[in-house]
Amino acid sequence: MTTNNEIYDCIIIGAGPAGLSAGLYASRGNLKTLIIEKGIVGGQLQNTKEIENYPGMDHMTGPEISDAMESQTTRFGCDIIKNSPVTKVELNSQPKKIFCDDKIFLAKTIILAAGSEHRKLGAPGEDEFSGKGVSYCAVCDGAFFKDRELVVVGGGSSAVEEGNFLTTYAKKVTLIHRRDELRAERILQERFKKNPKTEIIWDTVVEKINGGILGVDSVTIKNLKTGETKDLACEGVFIYVGLDPNTQYLDGSVKLDGSGKVISSERMETNMPGVFVAGDIRNTPLKQAVTAASDGSLAATMAIAYVEALHDSPVAA
Ligand code: NAP
Repeated sequence: MTTNNEIYDCIIIGAGPAGLSAGLYASRGNLKTLIIEKGIVGGQLQNTKEIENYPGMDHMTGPEISDAMESQTTRFGCDIIKNSPVTKVELNSQPKKIFCDDKIFLAKTIILAAGSEHRKLGAPGEDEFSGKGVSYCAVCDGAFFKDRELVVVGGGSSAVEEGNFLTTYAKKVTLIHRRDELRAERILQERFKKNPKTEIIWDTVVEKINGGILGVDSVTIKNLKTGETKDLACEGVFIYVGLDPNTQYLDGSVKLDGSGKVISSERMETNMPGVFVAGDIRNTPLKQAVTAASDGSLAATMAIAYVEALHDSPVAA
C-alpha cells in the first residue's frame, strides 16, 4: 500500500447523481475534491432509459444526464477516479483515510455517496444464468431480447418502469409479483397495465430459473395463495426486487439503520464529525436522481463549512 501524499479537502465515495452533485458544489466552493467510483460514473442513472421527473431535463436518458453531470463537475476542477472500489475507511483520524486498490487517500472531510446495488432474488438458476438470460439492467440487455418473451420480477417502480421499456424489444413482458398490489408509482402502473404487450401474474413468486446451454428457457413459478406450481416459458428474466445500500467497506465505522442505510441528520451529517452522506445510501424516504443531487449539494455545503472551521481552529489540519 502506498499513501497518496496530497491531502484532499473532500473525498466523495461514489459518482452517481449524489456524488457528482457533491463534487460540483465542493469543487465550485474551492475545496480540493476527489470522487472515487468503483465502476463507471452515473450510478443508477446508467440503468435507466428515460428520466422523466428530473426538472428541466425532459426527454434525456439516464446516461445522457450522467454525462452532463460529469462534465459540469470536472469543469470546476473535481478529480474523478473510476473503476476503483473502496475497501476500507478510517474515519477517526484527521486526515481521514480511504483505502482503495493499493493506495491510501487522505481527506479532511468525506462524503459517502456510494448508492445502492440491485438485490438478488436468491432463486436457483439466478447465478448460473446471469448474463445468459438473467439480467438486472433492461437498458444494458433489453436489445438482446427482440421479439422474445420476458419475465420481470418485482412490483416496485424499477420493475414496472423497466418492464414497460422492455416492450420496446420484447414480444411480451410478464411481470411476476408476490402480492396482489404493486408498490410502483401510480403513473408507471397505469402505463404498464395499458401496454398491450404486458401481463401481470399476482401473488406469485419465481422459485427457479431453468435453462440449458442456450440460456434461460423458463421459470418455475408458485402461486402463494393456491400453492399451484408451474413452468412459464421465457427467454429472459429481469430482476428488480429492490436495492441494497453499498456500505460494506464502512465496517461499522458510521451508524446504520435496521435496513443497513447510513443514518443522517437533516444536514447530511453522520455520527462521525466531518463525514457526510448523500443519496440512496442514506435513510431517505425518496430515492430519485433529483433528491440524490439535492442531498449532494447540501452534504458538500456542510463539508465546506467543516473545512473552513478546521482551518480556523488552533490545531488546524
Ligand atoms: P422497491 O421499491 O424496494 O421494490 C422492490 C419490489 O420487489 C417490491 O415490489 C417487493 O415486493 C419486491 N420484492 C422484494 N423482495 C422480493 C423477493 N425476494 N421476491 C419477490 N419480490 C420481491 O425497489 P425498486 O423498484 O428498485 O425502487 C427503489 C427505489 O427507487 C424506490 O424508492 C423507488 O421509488 C425508486 N425508483 C423511482 C423511479 C421513478 O421515480 N421513476 C424508478 C425506479 C425506482 P413488495 O412490494 O411485496 O415488498
